[in-house]
Amino acid sequence: MNRHSPYIGRFAPSPTGPLHLGSLVAAMASYLDAKTHFGRWLVRIEDLDRERNVEGADRALLAALQRCGMHWDGEVLWQSARLAHYETALHKLQAHIYPCACSRKEIADSRLKAHAASTAVYPGTCRHGLPEGKTARALRLRVPDGSDGLIQFEDRWQGLFRQELGTQVGDFVIRRADGVIAYQLAVVVDDGAQGVTDIVRGADLLDSTARQIHLQALLNLPQPRYLHVPVVTNAAGEKLSKQTGALPFDAGGSASEQALLQTALLPAARFLGLDLDAGQIPQFWQRALPAWDALLRRRGAA
Ligand code: GLU
Repeated sequence: MNRHSPYIGRFAPSPTGPLHLGSLVAAMASYLDAKTHFGRWLVRIEDLDRERNVEGADRALLAALQRCGMHWDGEVLWQSARLAHYETALHKLQAHIYPCACSRKEIADSRLKAHAASTAVYPGTCRHGLPEGKTARALRLRVPDGSDGLIQFEDRWQGLFRQELGTQVGDFVIRRADGVIAYQLAVVVDDGAQGVTDIVRGADLLDSTARQIHLQALLNLPQPRYLHVPVVTNAAGEKLSKQTGALPFDAGGSASEQALLQTALLPAARFLGLDLDAGQIPQFWQRALPAWDALLRRRGAA
């Protein structure tokens, strides 16, 4: 990558709980990548799903980033303040959208009939119109069939990723039955609006990337570069989250700088493959920057 081309990166947490080791790893990787490319690092709070939001978690996440020494550029963006922009995008996508009446259960049942092991591929029930007597719930985006829907991109960490949208994903939801704009659409609209050139995040989102690239093309937005870092899992191999019992460290509150270093920053760096030794937070970042650069060079991903 040309180090002098403008770089805009971002960390886009959902305010569903405190920063934990898993989210810190994503924050750290995106921060280090932006800084080693002399770029800007933005923070966006993805708070569209009111049911999952936890009161005050946005402020706690921001305070935790500050205490860890990760200072963002510009203003923090809250997705809940951007609903009109998502509606505009929906309007632009009109020709590719249809209303869908299927409940989750109906989709799951039809999948059981097809093949038990298949993932959430929508069977296309409402593609050609709502079945008699059914009412619209969600809005879906029609994806191209067969090889026309093949999306491939070179991930800077994971290598070549390919996904055929028609067979591996199916027509996907862009406005949910409860009226909430789906993550896939909001993230594409906002990355586009913020001029994000580089997306660095956890590999649990690798599977969403082809959908996002497809939406970028439909909305005439440039395609960013991607780097998906491995996700931290618990002993049972599950992604760390509040639900799987991740232990949040008290980064926003009373933890001492030493405790933050020992229980958060150093373990997160180690997880990314950076074996650092630092007595203070500023030194930690001084050492982490060249170490990240060297790590990417070794991986051929600089
Ligand atoms: N808000 C998403 C999450 O917390 C991340 C979005 C992204 O990085 O694209 O999982």
